[in-house]
Amino acid sequence: DNAQPRKPAWIRVKAPVGQGYKDTAKIMRENRLTTVCEEAGCPNVGECWNQGHATMMIMGEICTRGCTFCNVATGRPETLDVFEPGRVAHAVEKLGLNHVVITSVDRDDLEDGGADHFAQTIRAIRHRAPGTTIEILTPDFLKCAPEVLEIVVEAKPDVFNHNLETVPGLYTSVRPGARYFHSLRLLQRVKEMDPTIFTKSGIMVGLGEERPQVHQVMDDMRAADVDFLTIGQYLQPTPKHHAVDRFVTPEEFAAYEKTAFGKGFLMVSATPLTRSSYHAGDDFERLRAA
Ligand code: SF4
Ligand code: SF4
Repeated sequence: DNAQPRKPAWIRVKAPVGQGYKDTAKIMRENRLTTVCEEAGCPNVGECWNQGHATMMIMGEICTRGCTFCNVATGRPETLDVFEPGRVAHAVEKLGLNHVVITSVDRDDLEDGGADHFAQTIRAIRHRAPGTTIEILTPDFLKCAPEVLEIVVEAKPDVFNHNLETVPGLYTSVRPGARYFHSLRLLQRVKEMDPTIFTKSGIMVGLGEERPQVHQVMDDMRAADVDFLTIGQYLQPTPKHHAVDRFVTPEEFAAYEKTAFGKGFLMVSATPLTRSSYHAGDDFERLRAA
């Protein structure tokens, strides 16, 4: 049955117009950079790009995993481009960002899962744009030796984000190839290695999870010392992707946010259009100013 619930009024998408949007698009094109904003067909692209905020996706456009919610192509990835960290840093400098989010495809084909490439990218941004705070949204490094995580942590990102994506009971249908407790432990290990790094994770809702399962994920994250949480509505990128089970109401999101703050997260964003990188910079600025 492919019948999908109708998109409610609160899932509204503004048209991508405005000079800021065009300037961001130009900088991305000139530096031959891929963005998750475009790859994922993110509904916030108009708003974010108008403000010069984009999430760059490194290590190619082809992923070795095939998560059923994700629009990125699965297959044999390209060779790593050693000049990419420099181009990312150049774009960050040109965009004049206070805060940047860098993510990547999963690279199960690489021995270090791309850890060194992440570290190089962080260093290149620090060099070109020392005033920009850096948030990385990483794969799970499941197939790698545990030590590869140190390579990334030693490069000292300001925020280390790794999304749990959904409740453990839905992993086989939503995130095959990943392991819930591995991802949780990854976040915990980052904090153990360097407590000065903020850790962050997120889930999508509307995939078929129940409220107590979401609360359990929050507890698991807090037990792993995760600082920031994002919760957003899952939207189906194409009819071939995982179906939307339901649209979670804004009131339910508000309740999740309240519960999450009560559990001790330092920063929570839970709204229908929340994405991992949505307003990441503003939230981080606010936290640092507090
Ligand atoms: Fe890009 Fe994130 Fe903004 Fe979406 S929310 S447009 S992925 S920066
Ligand atoms: Fe998409 Fe990331 Fe899953 Fe790859 S690992 S399919 S990029 S969500």
